[in-house]
Amino acid sequence: MVTAAVLREIGGVPHLEELELIPPRPGQVRIRLAASGVCHSDLSLAGGTLRHAVPVVLGHESAGRVIELGDGVTQLAIGDPVVLLWAPPCGACWYCLQGEPYLCQRADTAWQRPYGALADGGDAYAGLGVGGFASETVVDASSCIRLPADFPLVEAALLGCALLTGVGAVRNAARVRPGQSVLVLGLGGVGLSTVQGARIAGAGRIIGVDPAESKRELALRLGATDVLEPGPDLAKRVRALCDGRGADHAIECVGRAETIRTAWSATRRGGHTTVVGIGGSTEQVSFTPLELAHFARSISGCVYGSTDPVTDVAFLIEQYRAGALDLAAMVTAGEGARSVVVFDEAA
Ligand SMILES: [Zn+2]
Ligand SMILES: [Zn+2]
Repeated sequence: MVTAAVLREIGGVPHLEELELIPPRPGQVRIRLAASGVCHSDLSLAGGTLRHAVPVVLGHESAGRVIELGDGVTQLAIGDPVVLLWAPPCGACWYCLQGEPYLCQRADTAWQRPYGALADGGDAYAGLGVGGFASETVVDASSCIRLPADFPLVEAALLGCALLTGVGAVRNAARVRPGQSVLVLGLGGVGLSTVQGARIAGAGRIIGVDPAESKRELALRLGATDVLEPGPDLAKRVRALCDGRGADHAIECVGRAETIRTAWSATRRGGHTTVVGIGGSTEQVSFTPLELAHFARSISGCVYGSTDPVTDVAFLIEQYRAGALDLAAMVTAGEGARSVVVFDEAA
């Protein structure tokens, strides 16, 4: 039996319950979780903006240790420290073969498969296939990326969602070049990761925007050169900071029509907006045909940082070791940083 925070119905509140996990099937492993970050998507899942089978154990930004191996698992060993992926690429579908593993058609297979039973005998599902808000979970070995033995496991949890998404948006989707200006809208876990990604990419001006002062201060510590409060004239203030032209890149980490539109308006002619935030399905973003042609700006969505998890986690580990990636500041800085649930076994 493991203890898990179980969300019984969409729009409800999770409660601690006992859960009997299904032992690892062939190709699966059991993980003792060390830590799980609380991602905005957990709120979207609890609130029903994102759909998920219930009852569900949320939490999808996790790290832990392998404690049991299913048949046929050879790439992992008992005791291995791992970070978990919520959209592990299958490596064989059309998108994976195309070199777009973040769009894998089978990435959500584990989201729809019961992974345990509650005390009343009912099925339980692992949130986004991870089920991070529990002391243990069972996942496909393909959703585990092994970490170096000395990597701090609590900080490592953030690699699995916020860092892969934010740093990936900068490197893989926007492809920010040294010296370019980058506007980051929304400074939660993903936005702060985006700021760090822009700094690592050698961006010139990095402008962070958030209504919370504590988040703006943290963004300055993590690499932003300027921070601004949102407001009706935000796009104008950003353009003024960027030689009157506008930013080369805007990376939207909020997922609202208004901020997407502001991001687009704040970029220069020919600039690019990358939408990372996950919004609802009821709002509309509008552009006139004339402005689309005249400004020659572009806009694109970005799923999971357009990541190839194996190479991107390796890159993040390398940057951490080089002192370029500050994970501790994101975990421990209190209000404005990532909330992380830490379990007893944290090592
Ligand atoms: Zn997330
Ligand atoms: Zn695939």
